[in-house]
Amino acid sequence: MSRIAYVNGRYVPHADAAVHIEDRGYQFSDGVYEVCEVYDGHLVDETRHMKRLNRSLGELRIREPMPLKALGHVLRETVRRNRVRNGLVYIQVTRGVSRRDHPFPGDHVAPAVVVTARSIDRRKSEASAEKGIKVITVPENRWPRVDIKAVALLPNVLARQQAEDAGANEAWFVDTDGMVTEGSATNAWIVDQEGRLITRAADAGILRGITRSVVIDLCEREGIELIERPFTVEEAHRAREAFVTSATKSVMPVVQIDDAVIGNGEPGSIATNLRSLFHGQAELA
Ligand code: PMP
Repeated sequence: MSRIAYVNGRYVPHADAAVHIEDRGYQFSDGVYEVCEVYDGHLVDETRHMKRLNRSLGELRIREPMPLKALGHVLRETVRRNRVRNGLVYIQVTRGVSRRDHPFPGDHVAPAVVVTARSIDRRKSEASAEKGIKVITVPENRWPRVDIKAVALLPNVLARQQAEDAGANEAWFVDTDGMVTEGSATNAWIVDQEGRLITRAADAGILRGITRSVVIDLCEREGIELIERPFTVEEAHRAREAFVTSATKSVMPVVQIDDAVIGNGEPGSIATNLRSLFHGQAELA
C-alpha cells in the first residue's frame, strides 16, 4: 500500500510530497512539530499534544494554520489513509514560504502544514522494552529554549548518532553543572535506592514531554513517590532503575548508562509497571 502525506490542504502520494525550497522550515528550521502515538487505532493524548503545539506556535509567533478541531480531523484522516493501527502521526508547521530573509515575513504568508503517519511494529517495541535500552551521556549543546518543540534538531540528531555509534540507543544531555537534562528525543528518569522516582522539573531545560506528564499523573494515582529535581550523572550511574519516556517509546527501561550497568542489568519493576499501566492512564481518542 502506498503512503499518503498531507501537505498544505492536499493528500498526496508520500513519494511526491514536497515543500518549496524557500519554506522557512527548510531554510531556517523556523517551525515546530508534534508526534502523537497511535495505539490500537486511537490517537494518544491528542488534547495535550495540541495544547503544546499551540504553545510552541505562540512562542515563535507563528499563527495557527487552522482551528485545532480541523487539525484533529487532518491527523485522523492521515492515519486512516495510511491504515495505521499502531504507530505515529507527525505534524510539522513552519512559518511558510517567503523570499529568504531573516526577519519574519508579514501575516500574508500562510504557515505551511505537513502531516505524515507511519506504522510501528508493536512487537518490536515490546521486545526492546523486555531487554531495556542503553544510554550514553553527552554535553548539552542545544539552544536554551528547548521547551519549544522546534524543528531545530541538529544537536539532537548528532547526539543520537553518537549513541548509535557507541552501540547505545539514546543519549542523555548533561548541562555544565553535571546535571542530566533529557534525552535526544525522550525525557530522562531514574529511581533512587529508596524507590523514589526522580526526573527534572519542566523548566526551560527540557521539553515538557506529554508522556512525562501522563506518567506523573500515573504516579499520583498509584501513590508512587516522585521528586521533580535535576539529578547528576553519578546519581544516574548508581540508580536502582532508569527509564525514558516519549510518545514513540512510551515508558522504556534503561539498563545501562555509559559504562554503568543499572540495577541487575534487567528492566526495573517500577519502569515495567509504569509501561504496562501507561495506556490505561493516557487519553485515547
Ligand atoms: N524531549 C525531547 C527532546 C523530545 O524530542 C521528545 C519527543 N518528542 C521528548 C522529550 C518526549 O516528549 P513526548 O513525551 O511528548 O513525546
